[in-house]
Amino acid sequence: MSTLDIRDLQVSIETEQGTKEILKGVNLTVKTGETHAIMGPNGSGKSTLASTIAGHPRYRVDGGSITLDGEDVLAMSVDERARAGLFLAMQYPVEVPGVTMTNFLRTAKTAIDGEAPSLRTWTKDVREAMNQLRIDADFAHRNVNEGFSGGEKKRVEILQLELFKPRFAVLDETDSGLDVDALKVVSEGVNRAQATGAMGTLLITHYTRILRYIKPDFVHVFVDGRVAEEGGAELADRLEDEGYDRFLTPAGK
Ligand code: ADP
Ligand code: MG
Ligand code: MG
Repeated sequence: MSTLDIRDLQVSIETEQGTKEILKGVNLTVKTGETHAIMGPNGSGKSTLASTIAGHPRYRVDGGSITLDGEDVLAMSVDERARAGLFLAMQYPVEVPGVTMTNFLRTAKTAIDGEAPSLRTWTKDVREAMNQLRIDADFAHRNVNEGFSGGEKKRVEILQLELFKPRFAVLDETDSGLDVDALKVVSEGVNRAQATGAMGTLLITHYTRILRYIKPDFVHVFVDGRVAEEGGAELADRLEDEGYDRFLTPAGK
């Protein structure tokens, strides 16, 4: 079992108006086999948490730590984070001209594992995963993300998740822009990866819709850069009924 541990994480960015503190002491522990939903109103810092785990240079860590089985994630380059088993959808380029999906997947898999996947099983694994995610076979020969629709990009994101077999996946608003059919297909992919028991998931979402298909073990509500409330799946049900109103100060509404 592996543990991703976030302790008292404080993160800020530089803006034209000066320094803006975004995360103000976030604590979170995710173990492989667990699904954690991070919910919260817009602007509460959910994506900042994802970007900080991903190592986005814009976000400055002012205090606290992120460790993976005791290893300092914040000291790792973006590539090292991927090799350590962190899957962060946004670290992959939006479009890669001239690079086919097949080549990209194989190159990335080789970089992550430190060795090339066995050709015999790999080709089969890719085909099977594409089938399950209802990705058309001709996508294999198309350039990465070039002309992909929003829904296609999300499927390809989950294709990577299934093939790379990370220890921890951070999925930020994976449900956004998906119709119900695509949402189901994408959720099934996450559930398949989660069912191995070898992956922990941080599922970041403003809306409860995706939680009908991916059942969280824990729900954390972000408000103004902090975890304001935590619970089990029932907390998401409550948020579905009540929204985030009770967490917001009148001025913040
Ligand atoms: P969420 O994902 O919960 O909607 P974000 O992490 O995107 O929240 O944003 C948290 C706060 O930080 C917001 O007030 C947002 O405007 C601000 N912020 C985040 N990233 C940037 C950025 N790159 N430049 C300026 N402000 C940012
Ligand atoms: Mg936002
Ligand atoms: Mg966001």
